[in-house]
Amino acid sequence: MKSFVYNAQPARVVFGSGTIARLPEEIDRLGLKRVLVLATPPREADARRHAEFLGDRVAGVYAKATMHTPVSVTENALRVAAKLRADGLVAIGGGSTTGLAKAIALRTDLPQIVMPTTYAGSEMTPILGETKDGVKVTQSSPRVLPEVVIYDVDLTMTLPASLSGTSGMNAIAHAVEALYARESNPVINLMAAEAIGALVSALPAIAGNPHDRDARSEALYGAWLCGICLGSVGMALHHKLCHTLGGSFDLPHAETHTIVLPHALAYNAPAVPAVMQTLRAVLKTDDPAIALYDLAGRIGAKRALSEIGMPSDGIDIATDRAMANPYWNPRALEREPIRTLIARAYAGEPPQA
Ligand code: NAD
Repeated sequence: MKSFVYNAQPARVVFGSGTIARLPEEIDRLGLKRVLVLATPPREADARRHAEFLGDRVAGVYAKATMHTPVSVTENALRVAAKLRADGLVAIGGGSTTGLAKAIALRTDLPQIVMPTTYAGSEMTPILGETKDGVKVTQSSPRVLPEVVIYDVDLTMTLPASLSGTSGMNAIAHAVEALYARESNPVINLMAAEAIGALVSALPAIAGNPHDRDARSEALYGAWLCGICLGSVGMALHHKLCHTLGGSFDLPHAETHTIVLPHALAYNAPAVPAVMQTLRAVLKTDDPAIALYDLAGRIGAKRALSEIGMPSDGIDIATDRAMANPYWNPRALEREPIRTLIARAYAGEPPQA
């Protein structure tokens, strides 16, 4: 007999190609007159081009969004927003830009329209991670949920092949952990399986041809569903390990997820036979953990934490930190197997069943 809680997050989603043309009507629909356009520094020129197209609906452009949402950047953006009397936010970018919009919204309740340009999925979640004095603190609040999310495949065409691959693997990790989350439920399971299938077929195609629009569309569709998964249920070992590793050694977000995912899944596999059955069907393989490790190889991603900046003495440090902070996981955390997991991920070895 089924028993579950399904927690849907409210969101208006516009999806397609060329949907940036819908931005003016979405701004008007929210009754906004002076939006602040947010972006990262490398995407400033694009943001200004989009702002020009919006004409006098735009109060200004703030292109200083930074990975891990430093509070100092948010405070600066708040001053700019107040000075420009902005009445809403338009974030065009990946998780870093979305994070800045959410951080401003948390403090001001300004409505947000988010246009994601990576596969990170933050736009679908009530989660905000902020960094102050080198410490990242994560909170969950419905105040940070965007009012509107516009997915425009065209905006993802410039995402470099390597970042597309790791960003897509980051998204797959949300769906994989959703399948065995404590709060897993039939609706999220459907979305997770659909999302993994879409991304697993799209990512190698994008790696082969970053201009493949159909594959881009499929990847963005999958990423949207993965974002819903992340926003609806709690995460477990994989996300906690990535958080620990990223925070301890300042490792790049999407690459860390790409490397850790096969290992975390292999660790949890014995505790979640039904999930492994689902993944075998979706991935068309006998060994889903190895299939994800192989996928990372096929898309040209790095598979060793040693290659992305983790120091060798980090294996024991990360093991200590992972064990020190107990959290829910389908399989109990055992020190030696966790150390082995981290050591294998450090060395780039295949996951151990
Ligand atoms: P990102 O937003 O930092 O983008 C990575 C780089 O790619 C940046 O330099 C950016 O300018 C560039 N870029 C983005 N889109 C591009 C495009 N279409 N073309 C060319 N370049 C492009 O990276 P990310 O992986 O999307 O986001 C990572 C951040 O998001 C982290 O801070 C992470 O913690 C956060 N995050 C939060 C959640 C959540 O639910 N709160 C979920 C996932 C990620």
